[in-house]
Amino acid sequence: MDPMQNVLEESVHEVFHRLRQMEAGYCHCPQCQDDVVTHALNHARPRYISGSAVGSAVTRVSLTRDQAQAEVAVLVLEAMRRVQRNPRHGPEGYLPREAAVR
Ligand SMILES: [Zn+2]
Repeated sequence: MDPMQNVLEESVHEVFHRLRQMEAGYCHCPQCQDDVVTHALNHARPRYISGSAVGSAVTRVSLTRDQAQAEVAVLVLEAMRRVQRNPRHGPEGYLPREAAVR
């Protein structure tokens, strides 16, 4: 895998776990986690390819720095809101059996 992609992914995971801890009641199931990470990455990729702030920050492997983390946090928060509004398991909650089939 592309090392820059790895850095980006690690950062998204890290930021997501931090934000989720801060938000009481946010769903902790692996399905929502997958969706948030995937959504955030899908929106981060075009930026990182075009060499914008997120991209160059990732290139410098400086994602612990405030600016880059803040940019990733915006993407992760947006993804969290989106998944929360419309979780794949519906409002009833996570169904572990479904995930096992995947
Ligand atoms: Zn969930």
